Amino acid sequence: MLYDAHTHLHEFLDSRVEEFTKEIVIVGVSDDYPSSRRTLELAERFNNIMPCVGIHPWNVDKVSIDELRQLERLVSEAKCIGEVGLDRRFVPQTFDRQLEFFRTFVTWARDYDLPLNIHAPDAWRDVLELVRRSDVERVLIHWYTGPLNLLNEIRDYGYYISINAAIRIQEKSRLVAKEAPLDVILLESDGPYEYRGITLEPPMVRDAARIVAEIKGIKVEELWERIGENFSRLFGRV
Ligand SMILES: [Zn+2]
Repeated sequence: MLYDAHTHLHEFLDSRVEEFTKEIVIVGVSDDYPSSRRTLELAERFNNIMPCVGIHPWNVDKVSIDELRQLERLVSEAKCIGEVGLDRRFVPQTFDRQLEFFRTFVTWARDYDLPLNIHAPDAWRDVLELVRRSDVERVLIHWYTGPLNLLNEIRDYGYYISINAAIRIQEKSRLVAKEAPLDVILLESDGPYEYRGITLEPPMVRDAARIVAEIKGIKVEELWERIGENFSRLFGRV
């Protein structure tokens, strides 16, 4: 099997979800309450989905505290909490509210013993500090394009990063792939996000794996094996 550690499956048609999950184990992240419901439903209907519930940091100003409380009722059905996090790059204006929400999600991850699937553009250090001080052991920082000198620290804490399929055209992802130890690496598509004219989709992890394996100087089969191990340690088995 192949593995995609971060995709918005709720945004795809059911027929596409069915097609993807035939060959890829997918962590389905959510953006708000309705998408969390849909992600959970998809995981019931199709194999190979790890459903995450959460509120994306881009949505914190659109979501009431009531909706956050409603969401907590779904947590016990989920395998992970995401997409959650902090973002100083795209939405710095809502940072205080993001922090309030993220602290809640970190508490849920601890109380329900679930991994966190984190979004952290230009807030890499902030999220690391916050999760490190909590008792959450299973942490993924998705589409990691942060400082390369944080990668060893991330490994020392036992956390993981995912490299996006955009590695095909994103130089920073190549640098991350070069520098990151193999035992912290996962791959992801973040589908159906559009990056520089490319609509990302889960099958693109295949191409990303080829590129990462080449950078690491290993066979692609060996890379998938290592990723499979990292994936199970982080999310458990489907
Ligand atoms: Zn995402």
